Amino acid sequence: MGLIIAANWKMHKTAAETVSFCNRLLPQEKYFQGIEVLICPPFTALAAAAAALEGSSIKLGAQNMSWEEEGAYTGEIAPQMLKEFRVSHVILGHSERRHIFGEDDATIRKKFQRALYDELVPILCIGETEDQRNRGETEAVLERQLRAVLEGLEPGSIKELVVAYEPVWAIGTGRAASPSDAAAAASLVRAVVEKIFSSETGPTLRVQYGGSVNANNIGSFVALSPVNGALVGGASLEVDSFAALITAAKEAAGC
Ligand code: PEP
Repeated sequence: MGLIIAANWKMHKTAAETVSFCNRLLPQEKYFQGIEVLICPPFTALAAAAAALEGSSIKLGAQNMSWEEEGAYTGEIAPQMLKEFRVSHVILGHSERRHIFGEDDATIRKKFQRALYDELVPILCIGETEDQRNRGETEAVLERQLRAVLEGLEPGSIKELVVAYEPVWAIGTGRAASPSDAAAAASLVRAVVEKIFSSETGPTLRVQYGGSVNANNIGSFVALSPVNGALVGGASLEVDSFAALITAAKEAAGC
């Protein structure tokens, strides 16, 4: 499987700004062959993004969703509402959702199960805080976060899974993890997923690195085989930096 590079715009860009971004990105699309490129705008810009990207290979993801199908859940967005705008992926368990909005593993598991039910590909974010890292708990935290969501799920129920290893201390700080630490975390993710699911019933898994990725450092991450792409915040907000990051990844991975 090839690389997957996803733009997480967080709470940035209006619908009009999204259209302008997409219109400027589309001429670059011919350079992205062999890489799955995904944009995750705010909910309010999904319709505009879907229209602007119609007919292109650039996919759309959501940054969050409800675990419920519909009902009295003020302010929530259901998976079927996302699918109306050709959303194929959903980011779940981002550290900002965990730490600012109090999402715990149980909540993330419910959302994950709903994503599977509605056939959205989950991008499950995991990662240690700086304190956990300093205490030598990184591996235990990653394993716990994975097991909390994946353990006990019906064998064969997950066809495709993307796990984003995002150390919390590296997000938006300009301090990326070292490529070897990212590769070690990606290998750990693979080993844990293989322990939970047998090779016949296990999902197709890709592991992204996320945390201060840019066009200058992406190559050193994806050149190491356990890392299959990136979840990109800040560097995905400008067309030039995002397109440069994708082409640098393509060159480094030789795809
Ligand atoms: C993110 O929020 O998922 C992220 C990786 O952000 P940044 O690239 O800005 O560190």
